[in-house]
Amino acid sequence: MIRTNNLNKCFGELHVLKDINITVYESDVVCLIGASGSGKSTLLRCLNYLERKNSGSIVLEGKEVDFKKDSVNEVRQKVGMVFQHFNLFPHMTVLENVIEAPIHVKKIPKAQAVKEAKELLGKVGLDDKMDVYPSKLSGGQKQRVAIARALAMKPDIMLFDEPTSALDPELVGEVLSTMKELAEEGMTMIVVTHEMGFAREVADWIVYMDEGRIIEKANPDDFFTNPKEERTKEFLKTTA
Ligand code: ATP
Ligand code: MG
Repeated sequence: MIRTNNLNKCFGELHVLKDINITVYESDVVCLIGASGSGKSTLLRCLNYLERKNSGSIVLEGKEVDFKKDSVNEVRQKVGMVFQHFNLFPHMTVLENVIEAPIHVKKIPKAQAVKEAKELLGKVGLDDKMDVYPSKLSGGQKQRVAIARALAMKPDIMLFDEPTSALDPELVGEVLSTMKELAEEGMTMIVVTHEMGFAREVADWIVYMDEGRIIEKANPDDFFTNPKEERTKEFLKTTA
């Protein structure tokens, strides 16, 4: 479970996150949607320690994340993240990408890390690509490696920031179906996405953000068929 209490984030004069209160319970899938610049990525980055909040708190599995005491590694072990542009290590094979953090951050014995990585790569359908370098993979394959790599740390929560936006249209489906499987297995997920079909089908909750605030949170049925807020209605017109 992850929760924010009145989370605020500024970049200089720019107030990007304004009193964000969000709670994501275990096994919930939350799709975070909103216009460009509304603060979606910044929110995920604050949750994963990639950005420092200015005020408010983040509670992870019942414990407040203390930016002075808790190490970056500790938080990132619990909160996995997948980015739009994969961010794989180009000089490492697929298998090496997946075992890197378990071995060096979690100090897991190599043989065990390799065994678990192979299982994960099987799960995302890439058993046959373990020994190739990322440059030899399609975008969809790269993104599935990135998902396996994040899962290798056994996170409590997975954050996805537009994981399919950089993909050719024909490769989007394979990544979304990997994510859907993960959701069905009970992973807690926050997904920033423009894929409204996925949001509708997979999300437990849709959260709509505008100008740094959460405007509306609803289940997909209510959100798409009966949005309450004027701004949500306007936004949905632009996605139709
Ligand atoms: P998009 O849909 O385009 O990805 P977003 O909702 O993810 O948009 P953010 O990337 O969170 O939006 O950005 C929110 C605001 O914060 C924007 O105005 C952006 O220019 C600004 N911003 C983001 N990162 C930084 C940074 N490192 N320094 C200064 N301003 C930033
Ligand atoms: Mg973004």
